[in-house]
Amino acid sequence: MRDLSAELARRQAGHLYRRRRISESPQGPAMRIDGRECLSFCSNDYLGLANHPAVVEAARQGLARWGVGSGAAHLVNGHSAAHHALEEELADFAGTQRALLFSTGYMANLGVIGALLGRGDRLFADRLDHASLLDGAAYSGARLQRYAHAEPADLERLLQQAPAGGRLVATDGVFSMDGDLAPLPELQQLARIHDAWLLVDDAHGFGVLGEQGRGVLEHFAVETDLPVMVGTLGKAFGTSGAFVAGSEDLIEFLIQSARTYIYTTAAPAALAEATRESLRRVRSETWRREKLRALIARFRAGAQQLGLNLAPSMTPIQPVHVGTAADALRIGEALEQQGLLVPAIRPPTVPEGTARLRVTLSAAHSEQQVDRLLDGFAHATTR
Ligand SMILES: *Cc1c(COP(=O)(O)O)cnc(C)c1O
Repeated sequence: MRDLSAELARRQAGHLYRRRRISESPQGPAMRIDGRECLSFCSNDYLGLANHPAVVEAARQGLARWGVGSGAAHLVNGHSAAHHALEEELADFAGTQRALLFSTGYMANLGVIGALLGRGDRLFADRLDHASLLDGAAYSGARLQRYAHAEPADLERLLQQAPAGGRLVATDGVFSMDGDLAPLPELQQLARIHDAWLLVDDAHGFGVLGEQGRGVLEHFAVETDLPVMVGTLGKAFGTSGAFVAGSEDLIEFLIQSARTYIYTTAAPAALAEATRESLRRVRSETWRREKLRALIARFRAGAQQLGLNLAPSMTPIQPVHVGTAADALRIGEALEQQGLLVPAIRPPTVPEGTARLRVTLSAAHSEQQVDRLLDGFAHATTR
């Protein structure tokens, strides 16, 4: 048996030990965490919907109508009219024939990859893809081939060398640690030429990018005939869960064969009701995206004035590069002492020498709060 306590001690010695903070308030800019008031710049609640009164009320009414538990898997009798309506509304919003709900984004990615690929097939993944896409290779039995981050030429080389067999190219739409975008038009063209599926996981772009919030596909105007889109509901939508959008055949095929869809209890119907309300707001309240864009611009302008090393990101994910892991920890702690919560991201999560403070912004932040963050950086970086 493995000596777990020795492994834990090793992690502690290597500064790799992870601890959870305990929050005592709903998600939002001002929170009470580990007994202290703080201003949070680390959530994925990009549009400020996680604790929106109308979304909360929709969940409450959903509970009154549907109770708490769905009681069964979708293929047994857990698939409610609320789930079904949400799927139709998501497909309409995404501009695809159908959409299928999963309980989490992690399960959606495993489910799709496992349904489309098997032993002898290949999964081509960007080096910086989310863990759930990479894990899809091991889960499906397909061979994983990683291409250099956002480098279509490297993907092309791998596709040209690959023997015949099933192929799927999987990419994040917005990369979660860097905030940059996948080169979708080029990836789409390569996938087409080399007869590969293209899966775009737009967890961080859906609801945020594009005039209407339809994500990275709308941003690049490539939504037509994208084979597989994955969107998550726990980020900009402020609720929980995920969906796959695509053709009639793709969705029917997933219902028949995606194991992470079939062998799990349907999420509560009340949650689907809450997400329906949040989708209405994502669609109609364009001011949330406009405000978010203005806050991003304000943060970037202020950070540039301070001489901070910003990444080229137009999204709410705004990493500030600081060099070494020790620098990141020191600045993160100095920010925390000022009541500002910004996670320090260090190797091995990111490449050596690219340790960073990962700022995420939300439409729920105010201009004053962004200015407080900038002041905090000014203090934290001048010792
Ligand atoms: C957050 C995230 C996921 C996982 O989604 P959950 O619903 O939280 O399981 C998948 N892919 C990407 C790119 C993500 O950022």
